[in-house]
Amino acid sequence: MPALLADLTTLRLGGPVGRLVTVSSTDELVDAVRSCDAAGEPALIVGGGSNLVAADAGWPGAAILVRTSGIDAAEHDGAVSVRVQAGVEWDALVARTVAEGWSGLASMSGIPGLTGATPIQNVGAYGSEVADVINSVTVLDRTSGRVETWPPERCGFGFRTSAFKHTDRYVVLDVTFELRRSRDGVPVRYLEVARRLGIEPGGVAPSEQVRDVVLYLRRSKGMLLDAADHDTWSVGSFFVNPFVAPEVAPADSPQWSVDGKVKLSAAWLIENAGFAKGYGLDRGSGTVALSTKHTLALTNRGGATTAELLELAREIRDGVEAKFGVRLRPEAHLAGVEF
Ligand SMILES: Cc1cc2nc3c(=O)[nH]c(=O)nc-3n(C[C@H](O)[C@H](O)[C@H](O)COP(=O)(O)OP(=O)(O)OC[C@H]3O[C@@H](n4cnc5c(N)ncnc54)[C@H](O)[C@@H]3O)c2cc1C
Repeated sequence: MPALLADLTTLRLGGPVGRLVTVSSTDELVDAVRSCDAAGEPALIVGGGSNLVAADAGWPGAAILVRTSGIDAAEHDGAVSVRVQAGVEWDALVARTVAEGWSGLASMSGIPGLTGATPIQNVGAYGSEVADVINSVTVLDRTSGRVETWPPERCGFGFRTSAFKHTDRYVVLDVTFELRRSRDGVPVRYLEVARRLGIEPGGVAPSEQVRDVVLYLRRSKGMLLDAADHDTWSVGSFFVNPFVAPEVAPADSPQWSVDGKVKLSAAWLIENAGFAKGYGLDRGSGTVALSTKHTLALTNRGGATTAELLELAREIRDGVEAKFGVRLRPEAHLAGVEF
């Protein structure tokens, strides 16, 4: 029986792979990718499958499942350098840093997936993003065949993007984070988190408390994986928040000025284009729908296909464009599918 991408992704969608290769050391990961490239076999790197929309037809080549596991920490002058292999589960790493009193990651508690994927779209939540604390990223460059260590300036980090996004040229082997030895977290910029912690935005609180509040909020929004909750059978936010010219921004929408552009809330645009939470549940087979807890998450209610999910995504993208003249783009990686 061929392995199914549906069993490797949080959407639980996607057909068979040509072959499944599980790697448990960095050398094995490099060798597996190099031998696919040498043989001309398409290679799909799979971490936790939480940002992957895979075709119903599957993947014709090798799916390389990253299961490396090392963490090395070195303390110096109140700072802690933590080098983490790509296969380490992100939230397990965050939990460990909070328990050790290494400050910097607590606001990003509960994001699914593995550490190696975090630089790719510069993952973030609640006012923090990994670019704030990344010291270097070790990559295999599939074009040159070389393993290189990149400083953050070279990584091209932006809002949910980097030099590693929209290309399969680089395989992330490990990531080094520069954290502080402190029981306190970084300043809490996100209003809802600050309010629950009883502090002003920009204030600090113990990392354990920040983690607890963030996990609570994520669960309430269906953004914490829970196999029993179909609202979490998703890739998190399907669409990325768009940046538009100031004159294009709808006057009544929430907006933030960034470098001469305006960042809009994709969730607000979707909701105000007529797609409420749970949209799709009452229609047709009802196998795909917006999450009942968050308008940005497109979810598999059980028995869905990728084609159905993309049909819903197109309906929403086109509805938003017709109402506001803003075209939403997907945040997740689409493997073998057109959108
Ligand atoms: C419920 C839910 C909530 C979420 N909330 C957030 C959030 O708050 N913030 C946020 O930023 N994201 C969020 N996400 C998206 C997702 O969790 C992140 O993007 C995560 O970093 C993906 O990690 P992964 O290991 O699952 O990647 P995968 O889905 O396995 O892979 C995603 C892409 O990265 C590539 N890739 C994976 N590992 C590597 C590697 N080592 N080297 C090269 N390429 C690689 C894959 O080929 C694919 O293109 C959420 C997802 C879900 C399901």
